[in-house]
Amino acid sequence: MMEHPENSEEYKGLTVNAGIEQPSIVNPYLKLRKKPRRKEYSVAEFVEGIVKGNVTVLSQAVTMVESLKPEHQAIAQEVIEKCLPYSGNSMRIGISGVPGAGKSTSIDVFGLHVLEKGGKLAVLAIDPSSERTKGSILGDKTRMEKLSVHPKAFIRPSPSAGSLGGVARKTRETIILCEAAGFDKIFVETVGVGQSETAVHSMVDFFLLIQLAGTGDELQGIKRGIMEMADGIVINKADGNNIEKAKLAASHFRNALHLFPTPDSGWTPKVFTYSGFYGLGIKEIWDMIDEYMAFVKKNGYFDYRRNEQAKYWMYETINEHLRDSFYNNPTIETMLAAKEQAVLNGSQTSFVAAKHLLDTYFQLLK
Ligand code: GDP
Repeated sequence: MMEHPENSEEYKGLTVNAGIEQPSIVNPYLKLRKKPRRKEYSVAEFVEGIVKGNVTVLSQAVTMVESLKPEHQAIAQEVIEKCLPYSGNSMRIGISGVPGAGKSTSIDVFGLHVLEKGGKLAVLAIDPSSERTKGSILGDKTRMEKLSVHPKAFIRPSPSAGSLGGVARKTRETIILCEAAGFDKIFVETVGVGQSETAVHSMVDFFLLIQLAGTGDELQGIKRGIMEMADGIVINKADGNNIEKAKLAASHFRNALHLFPTPDSGWTPKVFTYSGFYGLGIKEIWDMIDEYMAFVKKNGYFDYRRNEQAKYWMYETINEHLRDSFYNNPTIETMLAAKEQAVLNGSQTSFVAAKHLLDTYFQLLK
């Protein structure tokens, strides 16, 4: 029997034994019961189930949103449209940080903290690497031990297929469904180097950046653009003999933020240290977020940002569909390789090749 891959030296998990052979069927006349087919819901059933807060129906609707099949997409779009009037009534928080920053540990404690006051929490994710790996670790239930078994929490990993734009749109649509199902707190988790943060920023009310104290120059390696997006920066792992380093990092961030112009929200981003693992400083962070919400609701920025986001998503969706329609056109698909070759060997300029392809495409539409 093949050695189980998890027994390899590099694998640090539990040892997996070889196990025993599957016994043959004892009673050959016994018909194996077929796995019941998943119920296929109509649009009305989806909407009714979602609005009632039925998580099984919600999960299946999200699967429709994520599906690449046109018939599923058609259902999904109708469901979303019908759920729209029930959505919007939530606090949407983006949470970002490099791998190892402590996102899962923190989301677990943040989640329990916000659920203390009641309500329901959905944790969604945008994983920029999912396109390549065809799988996602972000938003994986097992990473959030306590939330994953909490009756008021719904955790959904990142949609795995498609471009970052496509993945982000699906997450944005999933937010609508979750809100219609009564989830009044939405976390959108991401890890990335810029683009996925922009995507998350475009769908949340508050963007929280998790950082670690480094070797002195904390700001190295963090892009200015990402810092500008943050409404709050929190330095994790401020525990044990790391407390002083974390405080120093916080003051570096505070100084750096002072150099930026005040954001459109009128809110100057705040910096805190905390420990997700030991649950220290959690209340301060959420008090800040509550303070921010009250502040932007009062000065009108909350509605402004949501309206801008709605507009942004309209254009994003148009762009995505136009792109798909172009690249999935069979004639264009066959022409593309030849054109690419022509550009590479210098027999045609990029612009002429692009124009020729576009002209052909528009001609086909007529
Ligand atoms: P993620 O990759 O951003 O989701 O990070 P994880 O939550 O998986 O955390 C990465 C590692 O850092 C794990 O070994 C955690 O136990 C550890 N960790 C997370 N938060 C803290 C913290 O507040 N203090 C300390 N000392 N370790 C932490």
